[in-house]
Amino acid sequence: MGGKWHEVRVIGVVEENVNTRRYFFEFTELEQFHFRAGQFIKLKITEDITRAYSIAAAIPGIKRLELLVALKNDGKGTPILFEKGKIGAKFMVSEALGNFVLPEDPLSELEDEVCFIATGTGIAPFRGMISELLVSKYMGTVNLIFGTRCMEDLLYRDKFDALDHIHPNFHYVPTLSREGRDSWQGKKGRVHPIIKSMYKNLRPCDFYICGWSEMVLEAKAHLLQMGYDKNHIHVENYG
Ligand SMILES: Cc1cc2nc3c(=O)[nH]c(=O)nc-3n(C[C@H](O)[C@H](O)[C@H](O)COP(=O)(O)OP(=O)(O)OC[C@H]3O[C@@H](n4cnc5c(N)ncnc54)[C@H](O)[C@@H]3O)c2cc1C
Repeated sequence: MGGKWHEVRVIGVVEENVNTRRYFFEFTELEQFHFRAGQFIKLKITEDITRAYSIAAAIPGIKRLELLVALKNDGKGTPILFEKGKIGAKFMVSEALGNFVLPEDPLSELEDEVCFIATGTGIAPFRGMISELLVSKYMGTVNLIFGTRCMEDLLYRDKFDALDHIHPNFHYVPTLSREGRDSWQGKKGRVHPIIKSMYKNLRPCDFYICGWSEMVLEAKAHLLQMGYDKNHIHVENYG
C-alpha cells in the first residue's frame, strides 16, 4: 500500500444533509495521529478503491478523526462508504498528506488579511485552519466565503457562527445560490461575484480555496485576472 497506514473504526455517523455525512473514526492501535490543519488522508473504501478526504477535525492526543463526505450517486467509492460505513466498521487510512496548510509563522508570512473560499465539502479543511489562525497571534482580518445551495447545506454553520461572535476579526460570509426563502437575510448567488465585490480594491490578502475543480479554477482565474499574485492564492482541488 506504500506509506504508513492505520486501522480505524467508525464510532459515529452524523447526517449533515441529504447527501453529506460526518464520519467519526477512532484509531484502533495508533496512540497519536500527527497532522497539520488542512491536510488530508487517503481512505481505503474497498481493496481496490482508495479516496482522499480532508481532515475535518482531529484533536491531537485524542485518537479520533473526523471526515466530511458527500455522496456521489454515480461514483464508485462513496455509495459503498455510505452503505458499509456503519458504527463498528473498520477501514484503513493513510498518514496525513498534502501541503495545503498555513505557514509555520502566520504572523510574519501572511498578508494582513486571509480569505478562505469553499463550496460544499471543501469547507472541511477550513475548520482546523481557521481555528489555528484565530488562536495564533495573527490579528488580521479572516474571512470565510462559503457557497452552497440552500440553508440546509450550510455545513458547520453553528460552529462558524460561534467563531464569528467570539472573534471580532473573523467574518463568516455564507452565500446561497438557490435559496428563495425570505428568512434568509444573507448573501445570495455564487461565490465569484462576492469575491469580486469584496476585493475590488485589491487590498493585500492571502486566499485559500478548496473544493471541486470547477469552482477552484474559476475562483483562482478571477483573482489572477483582478491582479492578485499567484503566490498568495493557495488551492486544494478535489478533482
Ligand atoms: C486532496 C483531496 C481531498 C478531498 N477531500 C474530500 C472531502 O473532504 N470530502 C469529500 O466529499 N470529497 C473529498 N475529495 C473527493 C474524494 O476523494 C472523492 O473523489 C469523492 O468522494 C468521490 O468519490 P467516488 O468514488 O464516489 O466518485 P468517483 O467514482 O471517483 O467520481 C466520479 C467523478 O465525479 C467527480 N465528482 C465526484 N464528486 C463530485 C462532486 N461533489 N462535485 C463535482 N464532481 C464530483 C470526480 O471528480 C470524478 O470525475 C477530496 C479529493 C482530494 C483530491
